[in-house]
Amino acid sequence: MKILVTGGLGFIGSHTVVELQNKGFEVVIIDNLSNSSTAVLEGITSITNQLPLFENIDLRDKDAVHNFFEKYTDIAGVIHFAASKAVGESVEKPLLYYENNIGSLVYLLQELQNLPEAHFIFSSSCTVYGQAEKMPIDENSPIQAAMSPYGNTKQIGEEIITDVTKVSNIKAILLRYFNPIGAHSSAAIGELPLGVPQNLVPFITQTAMGLRKELSVYGNDYPTPDGTCIRDYIHVVDLAKAHVVALQRLLDKKNIEKVEIFNLGSGVGSSVLEVIEAFEKVSNQKLAYKIANRREGDVTMAYANTDKANSILGWKTQLSLEEAMESAWKWEQKIRS
Ligand code: NAD
Repeated sequence: MKILVTGGLGFIGSHTVVELQNKGFEVVIIDNLSNSSTAVLEGITSITNQLPLFENIDLRDKDAVHNFFEKYTDIAGVIHFAASKAVGESVEKPLLYYENNIGSLVYLLQELQNLPEAHFIFSSSCTVYGQAEKMPIDENSPIQAAMSPYGNTKQIGEEIITDVTKVSNIKAILLRYFNPIGAHSSAAIGELPLGVPQNLVPFITQTAMGLRKELSVYGNDYPTPDGTCIRDYIHVVDLAKAHVVALQRLLDKKNIEKVEIFNLGSGVGSSVLEVIEAFEKVSNQKLAYKIANRREGDVTMAYANTDKANSILGWKTQLSLEEAMESAWKWEQKIRS
């Protein structure tokens, strides 16, 4: 029995492959290398001593997806990471995002609905909550209109999966990630942002490395204790482990509903300045940053209520913000050396 990990050479996917292999699962990766490289296979193998199976397939190719399931008839579960994820780019190229994130999902589900049973884990996002009224955000918090085509693909994706599970033997878990950061402690795998990073932590580490002149902190006049935006940063290794636990829940038939939803965060909100401070502490250096204007589309604060994941999945984060910053820094230094 194999587990298919789509986008398994990407940031979260590669860490999840490691955790799956650590638990004894045999993994097949589908990735089209649009935001990754086969070097990640070496990184994974250096940690686990196991080379995962790899298929270079573009999930937008319906025939290729069909042929994959003809070739692999023993897929026990699918963890679907593959997607385009740059919010800004999605505003510029909405159809690319709808084609990639929705088209790929539909083709996968079309194959899975023909199987006697299928177990499906979907990468969703806390962006579905927009600026929630109540903190911390629990899974019943209302879904808000998406602020970008990327965000919309996550909402539509959740709806498509929910509809399909009603008329098929697909059982699904939708995981709403907060802000994944960090890297594997070995520095053998990590995040590889293309171009100028959109996310805070790679921007911090690239600035400290001298690749960027300074970090812009977008706004220090938000209604938060230090005026900067608050997010829930979750170590990617903790996040990866949650996928293994969620998959196991489906395989063990412990799910109560055909679609279950869990927030995956640390439950702690950290401001931009607190993240900078954590970085300065672990790297023992001052970071060059300036306060800039607010950035359009940023919510003031978002952090997770993790009670449901804690009690039902039996999963809890184990790694701190500082450990995440330390691993991200180690990774940045390694890839630039
Ligand atoms: P990533 O870009 O590092 O990984 C995605 C992988 O999917 C890449 O290796 C890419 O080459 C591959 N891919 C993309 N389109 C493909 C296609 N058509 N066919 C085959 N492979 C394809 O991204 P990530 O940060 O690891 O994110 C994984 C998932 O989690 C995505 O669905 C993303 O939207 C979601 N997510 C990420 C974050 C975050 O901050 N990183 C937050 C919330 C949700």
